[in-house]
Amino acid sequence: MRYHSTRGTDESITGSQAVLRGLAPDGGLYVPDTLPQLDVITCLEGSTMDMATRIIGSLLPDIQNMEALVRAAYTGKFTSSELTPTQAAGPFTVLELFHGPTSAFKDVALCMLPRLLTAARQQQGMEGDITILTATSGDTGKAALEGFRDVPGVKICVFYPQGGVSAVQRAQMVTQEGGNVAVCAVEGNFDDAQTGVKQLFASGVPGKQLSTANSINIGRLAPQVTYYFKAYKDLLQAGTVKMGDPVNFCVPTGNFGDILAGWLAKQMGLPVGRLICASNANNVLTDFLTTGTYDRRRPLHKTISPSMDILVSSNLERLLYFLSGDTGLVANLMGQLNTQGAYTVPEALLSTIQKEFWAGFCGDEQARQTIGKVYSQYGYLCDTHTATAWAVAEDYVNQANDNTPMVVLSTASPYKFPAAVLSALEPVKGTDEFAMMARLYEKTGVPIPKNLVGLQQKPERHTGCIAKEQMLDFVANIS
Ligand SMILES: *Cc1c(COP(=O)(O)O)cnc(C)c1O
Repeated sequence: MRYHSTRGTDESITGSQAVLRGLAPDGGLYVPDTLPQLDVITCLEGSTMDMATRIIGSLLPDIQNMEALVRAAYTGKFTSSELTPTQAAGPFTVLELFHGPTSAFKDVALCMLPRLLTAARQQQGMEGDITILTATSGDTGKAALEGFRDVPGVKICVFYPQGGVSAVQRAQMVTQEGGNVAVCAVEGNFDDAQTGVKQLFASGVPGKQLSTANSINIGRLAPQVTYYFKAYKDLLQAGTVKMGDPVNFCVPTGNFGDILAGWLAKQMGLPVGRLICASNANNVLTDFLTTGTYDRRRPLHKTISPSMDILVSSNLERLLYFLSGDTGLVANLMGQLNTQGAYTVPEALLSTIQKEFWAGFCGDEQARQTIGKVYSQYGYLCDTHTATAWAVAEDYVNQANDNTPMVVLSTASPYKFPAAVLSALEPVKGTDEFAMMARLYEKTGVPIPKNLVGLQQKPERHTGCIAKEQMLDFVANIS
């Protein structure tokens, strides 16, 4: 299987090369020439890791020893041997993606990416250590640190905006253990940190081979296909569906990676009905999927579901390519997004997209109400991102009158956002997030994930804070 850019077919490369490069030279994202077709019954056999081996292996067939890579990535890292278990809750089934080392769904991909990257490097005969550089607004940094921690041949360096992440997120990063990790605060906001990282990629850092853990890498997307199959298997076993019956999925969406993995699962043979794209007040995707016009020219709202506070959803580009098959069109639309901040897709493409996707959004107030309602009616405690998806899933069922079984994807533990979640259940006192975590546990009895318990007591190992201009020196001095 070969890969090419969403913006042109001049270059044809293997899966392992696509993992190594991340982004194509023309600015496009790598996509396979054709998508593999799986026999669903065989694919569902065995453990979740067996399923992951088959699914990731089918998308990246030139990477060898996939089974060993999958086991090295996930063994002992997730609190559930199923990796991504499901829970029935009221009218829906919740797919819990937050049982990894940092209690966020990005763990599923970021545990696997380092293994794919190092295997690809070996196969391509590349030598020397590689340094992963990431700027984070919160969740990605910690998940990348855990995923790459102590992986041979790799160093991982994370920059976060000083004062720009929550107390829990900061504690998660500054207490990071591992012999190959570096973490540092940068003066300014997330944009300053991200611009600094981009400049380092542009200028290079003497003595370092740089790479990225960014979500546009196909090596981050492929591992996410597995949990759609896993959820389907659970519904079969629960008797909710018979083999071949469709299932709908509602996905809290930011960069469009998670939901695109669901669409890939469908193309690869999984019986998926509608994919429902849930946004918060940053509802660019809702507008796009209803009108065909993507328009980023609007203010970015800060919400209680910060991982979805995003105006440009990079992975949408892959969908536009797959559904149009037209790299020229994609290059043109992305050019318009760059220069004018907006584009409109042709009528026919919009109607193809709308056959597969439905979209809605939910504001902070409705998300809080949903957390309270789902907890009191069904005894299920969900985080703010999951609540967004739940509310949009309800809107979909009411408006479309579609009774196909619905899976709601849950992308974070409620304890990662204790202030917002607790405030949905009772009036909150003070500003100490760790006290809120304790109170949330006292009130609900839902166990606090082990990686978040005692975080406050852990020694702080990475307390530095630098100006943007010092980032180059910081990276150059990582030993
Ligand atoms: C990253 C993230 C999302 C959005 O996922 P995308 O793949 O970017 O659409 C949703 N919820 C949480 C908690 C996340 O960390």
